Amino acid sequence: MKTPVYMDYHATTPVDPSVVHAMIPFFGEKFGNAASRQHHFGWVAEEAVDSSRSLIARALNAEAKEIVFTSGATESNNLAIKGAAEGYAYKGKHIITCATEHKSVLDVCKNLAKRGYEITILSTDEYGVLNPEEFSRAIKEATILVSIMIANNEVGTIQNVTEIGRICKDRSIVFHTDATQAVGKIPIDVQAMNIDLLSLSGHKFYGPKGIGALFIRSKNPSVKLVQQIDGGGHERGLRSGTLNVPAIVGLAKALETCVDSMEVETTRIRKLRDRLQETLLKHIDDVYLNGHPTQRLPNNLNMSFLYVEDNALMLGMKDVAVSSGSACSAAEPMPSHVLKALHIGKERESSAIRFGLGRWTTEEEVDYVAGRVIETVKRLRGLSHPARYAKTDARVDEQ
Ligand code: PMP
Repeated sequence: MKTPVYMDYHATTPVDPSVVHAMIPFFGEKFGNAASRQHHFGWVAEEAVDSSRSLIARALNAEAKEIVFTSGATESNNLAIKGAAEGYAYKGKHIITCATEHKSVLDVCKNLAKRGYEITILSTDEYGVLNPEEFSRAIKEATILVSIMIANNEVGTIQNVTEIGRICKDRSIVFHTDATQAVGKIPIDVQAMNIDLLSLSGHKFYGPKGIGALFIRSKNPSVKLVQQIDGGGHERGLRSGTLNVPAIVGLAKALETCVDSMEVETTRIRKLRDRLQETLLKHIDDVYLNGHPTQRLPNNLNMSFLYVEDNALMLGMKDVAVSSGSACSAAEPMPSHVLKALHIGKERESSAIRFGLGRWTTEEEVDYVAGRVIETVKRLRGLSHPARYAKTDARVDEQ
């Protein structure tokens, strides 16, 4: 086993070798611009984009024309929310979202609030689950858009988006979901789940960084967005800019691989995650699981080790790559807005660690990480709370 051990698969993932292999020809011999409709090089690139688009659509039970390529989930979320806000402003200016959403949803809503939109930010229960009745009550005559993620990037909680989507459908409200952490890990069906707009990002499921997509429903209803990037009219005018053909090919290959291996991979990763959770719970006192105990991503484990600062714990085990809060807002020395929204208390907020398991996580790595966490938590507690943990430490030592 090699160290450092990577256990931060929610932040990003390595590109699968089969994905790299599929991409390589499009950097060299097949370098054409997919918009060059007059010659062979353009046709080859366009054909690759078309088949990638179809593959991605099939994985979501959508149609090829409903997929627009973007630079990633941040851009997809911007296009979905700003695009719908502007496109449906004639109907109303009220948008509903949730306190545990990613910043690329919440900050877009904040921006829209400055532009005269009314934003309702719903709270969740202590597990991060939204209450559908509370959600229904928040809907107004002027509600034009709802944005609720499928799976949370910090605590892994999975929302009942099918029910939320159904309520939106009944009220003719556009339903957007940020599916960045869910795509490739749990089955997604935009028809069965009543989704109108869905954001995804390649680097979260073993594809390249800087490529993503937005599903935009074309019938029942046909969703009309206002484009956010003007230019040459690519992607039917919804997102101008020369298409990143190698990345698009990689995105499709990565998603195809995830869908094909989902059942086997989920079973294996869930077993490893449960092993890590059980080992930590067995050997450390005052540990809490954050997020929903069962309704969560199979690769996610978020735990608070009371009386140990998250950063001190991570610094104490530099051979283990995990994260506190989300890497996307790690530049801010602020407690995670997701954990704050769960109202679990300051102590649990400041001692939370996110473990993200993935395709190359092994049992040996899980046992190594568990050992390093147990050892480091014990050592740090021994230093900061010697009286409280003297007995516990002795008991752990004997095991
Ligand atoms: N939404 C969620 C839930 C995420 O986890 C992330 C990545 N941390 C994003 C959006 C942003 O994705 P990207 O890096 O593709 O912009």
